[in-house]
Amino acid sequence: MPGGEELLRSRGLRVTRPRLAVLDVLAAGGHLEVDEITRQVRQRIDSVSTQAVYDVLGALSRAGLSRRIEPAGSPARYEARAGDNHHHVVCRGCGEIADIDCAVGSAPCLDPDIAHGFEVDEAEVTFWGLCPTCQARRSADD
Ligand SMILES: [Zn+2]
Ligand SMILES: [Zn+2]
Ligand SMILES: [Zn+2]
Repeated sequence: MPGGEELLRSRGLRVTRPRLAVLDVLAAGGHLEVDEITRQVRQRIDSVSTQAVYDVLGALSRAGLSRRIEPAGSPARYEARAGDNHHHVVCRGCGEIADIDCAVGSAPCLDPDIAHGFEVDEAEVTFWGLCPTCQARRSADD
């Protein structure tokens, strides 16, 4: 995996410590809320404001280095896995999120019969269900 500096330069972004720190946090994987990203960034560099982290996430997302998702009822989350149009399964019990590969790989992976004249560029597919932990909890409650 290329280093953060290389990634930033490849997208024409200036290399800054906050950007490197956010990339590093996201590289560990998962779908993180801004508060969690900020907390981990502060373990790497001394002082960074929440607003600065938002700004970095905006720049990274526009450059295709991170992806913002916002499942219904959940705050925005960010991940490093961007550009492959993968989908998500969200737990109705605890909000846990996992990746699901797109069978097609590129957006839009669903073609509407009638698009009402729209030029469709994305189908937002979210799967909902119960994660293994919540399934176990449910069985225990029975
Ligand atoms: Zn769950
Ligand atoms: Zn994902
Ligand atoms: Zn798909």
